[in-house]
Amino acid sequence: MIELKNSSSPDKIVIVGGGFTGLFTGINLIEKGFDNVVVFEEHKTIGEPRHCAGLVSEKALKMFNLYEDDFIVNVVTRARFFSPSGICFEVEGEKAVVIDRVLFDKFLAEKFESLGGRIVYKRVDRLCFIDNAVKGVYLDGDKYCEANLVVDCEGVHSGCRILSMTGVSPPETLLHATQFDIENAFVDDVSHVELHFGREIAPGFFLWLIPLDEKNVRIGVASSDIYKRPPDLLWKFMKHGIRRDMFTIANVKYRFGGLIVASGPIRKTYMSGFLAVGDVAGQVKPTTGGGIFTGGVCSLAAAQAVAWAHDYGEYSEKTLSKYEILWRHILGREFKYMLLARKLLLKMRDHEIDELFKAIRDSGICDRVGRKGDMDLQFRTFMEFIRSPRVTLKILKIMLRRQ
Ligand SMILES: Cc1cc2nc3c(=O)[nH]c(=O)nc-3n(C[C@H](O)[C@H](O)[C@H](O)COP(=O)(O)OP(=O)(O)OC[C@H]3O[C@@H](n4cnc5c(N)ncnc54)[C@H](O)[C@@H]3O)c2cc1C
Repeated sequence: MIELKNSSSPDKIVIVGGGFTGLFTGINLIEKGFDNVVVFEEHKTIGEPRHCAGLVSEKALKMFNLYEDDFIVNVVTRARFFSPSGICFEVEGEKAVVIDRVLFDKFLAEKFESLGGRIVYKRVDRLCFIDNAVKGVYLDGDKYCEANLVVDCEGVHSGCRILSMTGVSPPETLLHATQFDIENAFVDDVSHVELHFGREIAPGFFLWLIPLDEKNVRIGVASSDIYKRPPDLLWKFMKHGIRRDMFTIANVKYRFGGLIVASGPIRKTYMSGFLAVGDVAGQVKPTTGGGIFTGGVCSLAAAQAVAWAHDYGEYSEKTLSKYEILWRHILGREFKYMLLARKLLLKMRDHEIDELFKAIRDSGICDRVGRKGDMDLQFRTFMEFIRSPRVTLKILKIMLRRQ
């Protein structure tokens, strides 16, 4: 790990947004030696409103040095994938944990503050530009806060307002998602998550079932079809879907949702005095909507690039461009293949998903995919799937089919 040449720096860094990427970037910057890091959060409480399903690989949390038992709700080791007609294949391998996102974000906030960071519960209204460089932010009520660097971690729920002021377009595809936390469900196995695919079940995405314990399950869905609303899809699945037996006496304890970024990274994530990190930068897996691993990696890259820029003596467009070079170097190929997988999903008709899942199930590759694949670095998983000629042929047939 490279730290600052002079072990600390008084340069003021403003972070817009106290979600996962904002707080984690703050922690990483302080650990690099920046003493004056302020996070502005528009809500009164960290971690709320909730939107995340909270599924993340154990190794990602350990890699980020953020693993604590306190916010782990459940541990899962298997994923079952269901086609529209119920053809299922199972992949067993990597350990994933279900985290309580409110507790997790509060843990991050405490860690950030204990290191000397400051959280100010105020909304950033706009950026201040001088000579095409970002020099600070205006808060609600027109109060001005000067900064050597502004890191935009505003997420996508507020319409990417701050990012748009730099002239860069925000992520193109945002899918509406809804989740229900269900109690009194019949959960037969707490160690596996389920993913259900199909144009009637989850158009343009998938429906997920994440067990919290023997009686509680989180069910969620995202949809790219404005006429098939996520809450309606969830009710339909619970009443008529192939897992309806789970829900005969169940009731919805908590209902929440949000916007899933599904179009991959935005075109440019830096300018003079400014970086964009996390959901707002589209640094979310387009296949699953997971942003903790990708956002975390980009937070680390941002802190590294800011330290380099500091040592170079300026937070200019040129020095900060290293941030983009770094995160694209680590994740560029991953995003490329995940976008390809998403393109495949969008193209598939229901009977083609059935055929593909049957080919995967019958080809006997699932064990190997479980051992060699990776839920975060999905290029590897993709390569394991296409080791089977039968699966590759099916994929090619779908990709080459005219609309
Ligand atoms: C339904 C759903 C399920 C998901 N499930 C998973 C999952 O299982 N696993 C996974 O890895 N990822 C999941 N994700 C993605 C994950 O939640 C995000 O990638 C992650 O939380 C990182 O978000 P962020 O910090 O970039 O943005 P956010 O979490 O949106 O945080 C942005 C913060 O900025 C604040 N803010 C915005 N504008 C301003 C402003 N102008 N001034 C001050 N504050 C501002 C907001 O209030 C917010 O607190 C899911 C997302 C959704 C929508």
